[in-house]
Amino acid sequence: MILPQELVTQYDLNGPRYTSYPSADHFTSGFSETDYKEMLHIQNAQNIAQPLSIYIHLPFCQNICYYCACNKIITKDHRRSAEYIGYLIKEMDLVAQQFQTRRHVRQIHLGGGTPTFLSDGELEQLMLALGERFNIDDIGEYSIEIDPRHASRSTIGHLRKLGFNRMSLGVQDFDEKVQEAIHRIQPAEMTFAVLDEARKQGFQSINMDLIYGLPLQSIDSFSATLEQVISASPDRIALYNYAHLPGTFPPQRRINEATLPEAKLKIELLAMGVKYLTEAGYLYIGMDHFAKPDDELAIAQSDRSLERNFQGYSIYPQFDLIGLGVSAIGKIGAAYAQNVKSLEAYYARLDENRLPISRGFRLSFDDLLRRKIIQGLMCNFELDMNSIEDEFSIHFDQYFDQEIKLMQEFSATGLVEMDDRKVAVTPTGRYLIRPICMIFDAYLARRSVSNHATYSRTI
Ligand code: SF4
Repeated sequence: MILPQELVTQYDLNGPRYTSYPSADHFTSGFSETDYKEMLHIQNAQNIAQPLSIYIHLPFCQNICYYCACNKIITKDHRRSAEYIGYLIKEMDLVAQQFQTRRHVRQIHLGGGTPTFLSDGELEQLMLALGERFNIDDIGEYSIEIDPRHASRSTIGHLRKLGFNRMSLGVQDFDEKVQEAIHRIQPAEMTFAVLDEARKQGFQSINMDLIYGLPLQSIDSFSATLEQVISASPDRIALYNYAHLPGTFPPQRRINEATLPEAKLKIELLAMGVKYLTEAGYLYIGMDHFAKPDDELAIAQSDRSLERNFQGYSIYPQFDLIGLGVSAIGKIGAAYAQNVKSLEAYYARLDENRLPISRGFRLSFDDLLRRKIIQGLMCNFELDMNSIEDEFSIHFDQYFDQEIKLMQEFSATGLVEMDDRKVAVTPTGRYLIRPICMIFDAYLARRSVSNHATYSRTI
């Protein structure tokens, strides 16, 4: 067991995943297209030399996976993607018009949905359209989420030619019964064929996504999955907790709740996952992510340059992030902006030549300060009060009087070590990093020991 049972009981709370601070549930419709444009102009004036990061949401999937919590559209009609690309290009145009020069881009992520729902030709059209509106740097992080059920060898080669150099493979679990229960039949050989081809084509970093807490998972079945994954030796592994929220995500209603692992088994599955992966040489990067010591995420963490964004962890500093596509979220300077969530609304807004922003958030001084602290804890497992004081001109002890007291409780349970100027998260505390960060979250009504039902569990 990696965590003492009493700590699990005490800190298995509901809490934000901190891909942003404040978390996206605090975005408001008071943030409009006008606000977004204003932020783009401010950032363009101040940060013209800094490259951008671009996220493109491609929502279409051919089949539903019952555990899914993504914003997706299930369809077998591939003509729908052609229309969608037309609108994406229109959105790119509207964004590019806000800049006085062609901005550099050093990070692109295609997520979904299933990005390879698009044909090879459509993916090429999309990347060419980006390249016509932005200067895409030769060296950068260009990643795509791959569903091995919908990615042929030739598509993998094609993606490499288009410039993609990282990929994330959706696996979840290799057990046939679990796959049936989640409605995602994906033989291991199919996944490994994609992995082999990606390696052959020179993809630099390949991730595999696993989920614990799925229906019918047992210690035996999940250990077999872990062994298969470890033998394939991907550069990174993400081990996510399945959050069963059928009220929020309707596809999850098709999961038979009686087949879900109970809380104790779930913790054991997590503990086994951590044990297997760390014994196989993977380093725990934080928040579900493991990487080989020579992977760039692990290297960035060791030299304190790791960052966290909406896609997880990143090696690049906090570039402004342009979100394109339905429901996509962007981060521009001291603001977040999210696009409308339905396809109809997305098309309607673009037909009016308007950016499809539906909500967002402008960060105050206090938000920026707390974001910095939470980022540092999430990525580097430490808090350096001197550097926060230097950057924000505050007296840390006075400003965070209450938070320091709460942190001392974590210190007493061995989750952090602290002196009067630094907090360092211990190896055990790293698995409870969300409750530690929650101390600094001003938006949680009660801190540290409360439950917040709209969020997923922290363990
Ligand atoms: S899990 Fe992925 S592939 Fe499955 S329905 Fe959701 S977005 Fe589509």
